[in-house]
Amino acid sequence: MTVTDLPPPKLSVVLPVYNEAQGVELALRILSEMLEPVEPDFEIVCVDDGSRDESAEHILAFAARDPRVRLAQLSRNFGKEAAMAAGLDEARGKGVLLMDADLQHPPDVVPRMIELWREGYDVVNAVKEERARENPLYRAMAGTFNRLMSGVAAKNFRGASDFKLLDRQVVDVLRGLPERNRFFRGLVAWVGFRTVDVPFSVKERIAGETKWSTWGLVKYSARNLISFSSMPLRVIAGIGFVTLIFAGLLAIQTLGRYLVGEAVSGFTTVILLQLLLGGLILTSLGVIAIYLAELFDEVKQRPVFIIRRQATRSDLPPSPEPLAGAVTDEVAPAPAESDPE
Ligand code: UDP
Ligand code: MG
Repeated sequence: MTVTDLPPPKLSVVLPVYNEAQGVELALRILSEMLEPVEPDFEIVCVDDGSRDESAEHILAFAARDPRVRLAQLSRNFGKEAAMAAGLDEARGKGVLLMDADLQHPPDVVPRMIELWREGYDVVNAVKEERARENPLYRAMAGTFNRLMSGVAAKNFRGASDFKLLDRQVVDVLRGLPERNRFFRGLVAWVGFRTVDVPFSVKERIAGETKWSTWGLVKYSARNLISFSSMPLRVIAGIGFVTLIFAGLLAIQTLGRYLVGEAVSGFTTVILLQLLLGGLILTSLGVIAIYLAELFDEVKQRPVFIIRRQATRSDLPPSPEPLAGAVTDEVAPAPAESDPE
């Protein structure tokens, strides 16, 4: 009997694991001890992202003692984003919790996250409250990236992390998004649904060291900004247009000088030609950039909309008072009525 024949568990925990041999067994023990009283019907899916150490052996050693733990091993190191995507595919639970295998995402906030999910929230975001003990350069870079990201995606990314509990419905939508370059945090914000934030403070790693280099982080940030926004392309178009206007003004001035006889002979033609060509080239580039930007958005093939629920009048709880107005999502019953936003 394979794992897929078993009934799906209530909760899946997805751990991306890359060279975590030193700490992964301890992490699994702490996690399962913490989950036991809160939600005993769980599975832990460890995605070994091509570790070069004994991570997989340690996970299997633990799995031999606890069948709720399983391993999905990638063929090489694909990076954390890919490992998380693999984990979302592998997870079978009604809810899926993603967290780091180094326990920098503290398990003690998990019970609260599960509680909120049970109350009816589809997305429970754990938000970094303080970036204690992180080096100032990293903090400044993360801060800048989150601000830029908040700008282009029109969502607040301050303190955003990959530590999230997602309902099955959200997981299925995320798995259905066809784009290749996946920025998990951004996509979760993009799909919407009933969302709530829970603060947490980043802990020290239990063992091993971070897999990120400074350059790696810069590349990752640039890629994610670009995957979420065609703004840089549109900026080119803007610059081209502004240059053309400026060129127009300069052309008028140059022509004026020529007419009153102040210009050195031949210079007017040169200036005018330069302006015309420069302006035309930049504007044409801009037009191409706009089409490229549109193409870029199309190619991602994101759905135009996502339906969270369809409701009719019969979905309302029996109420003595007839309701005025149309039945909308707002009027229909929600599992938890206290929306924090
Ligand atoms: N990780 C991964 N693949 C990678 C790099 C990291 O699966 O290529 C995992 C890693 O094992 C950990 C999580 O992603 O569980 C976060 O990585 P890390 O702790 O190195 O990042 P940091 O916490 O320093 O941002
Ligand atoms: Mg870490």
